[in-house]
Amino acid sequence: MPKITEEVFYIPGQDEFMPDAHAYVLGKPSSQNLSLIDAGVIGKGNYKIQSLHKEGIELSSIKRIIMTHTHLDHIGCLSEIQREIPSAELWVHQLEADLLEKGEEKAVYGMDMFRTLCQLQFRLKPGAFKFQVHRRLQGGETLDLGDTVWEVIHIPGHSMGSIGLYHRPMKILIPGDVVYADYAIGRFNLYGANAFELKKSLMRLAELEVDILLPGHNPIVKDLPKGYILKTARQWEPYLK
Ligand SMILES: [Zn+2]
Ligand SMILES: [Zn+2]
Repeated sequence: MPKITEEVFYIPGQDEFMPDAHAYVLGKPSSQNLSLIDAGVIGKGNYKIQSLHKEGIELSSIKRIIMTHTHLDHIGCLSEIQREIPSAELWVHQLEADLLEKGEEKAVYGMDMFRTLCQLQFRLKPGAFKFQVHRRLQGGETLDLGDTVWEVIHIPGHSMGSIGLYHRPMKILIPGDVVYADYAIGRFNLYGANAFELKKSLMRLAELEVDILLPGHNPIVKDLPKGYILKTARQWEPYLK
């Protein structure tokens, strides 16, 4: 598991027949107060747990799991991870937290066809993604995550409760599926998505100084060119109305 900085570890997604989101571990290991950002797709819980073991991270030091959003490729193996780390809290933006607590899975599957396919493929029952949320995020919070401070930014558009996590001193951005490397952005045709909101979110992120981009999929970028997010937003602008 590559180390990005002293307080950020990276567990690359292990894509097979379905994409598996990257996970990140935030916090100084010495703090014993670590946060796991996103889980991954169904069946990848063991891989993520093994990755933590390999890095010498004690599972008991993972105090919470923070979701950038609740699509299946990010939340699919959450229950597998919770089985190994039952004490970890779950933090989610309030707009998706409400759905999760009701076991309302529209935001997990994104579209009916995909839900049917996944339920057949993985033999999932309706309500398989019902979770208790310990903290509802709104955006605007400053979180002390194990001797490292991260700002929560609500960036809807790819999903309604998407959040970004920003580490201002190190200029690190974890944008979930809102913006990727290679001038790509998250899709905006799933349940709860909104093209215009996505544009506004990209413009909001474009105001931040970002050197390190740690998205939910595809390559991570360690020397992000100046103005990258603005350029990406501009390229996509004709489609984001
Ligand atoms: Zn997504
Ligand atoms: Zn994703």
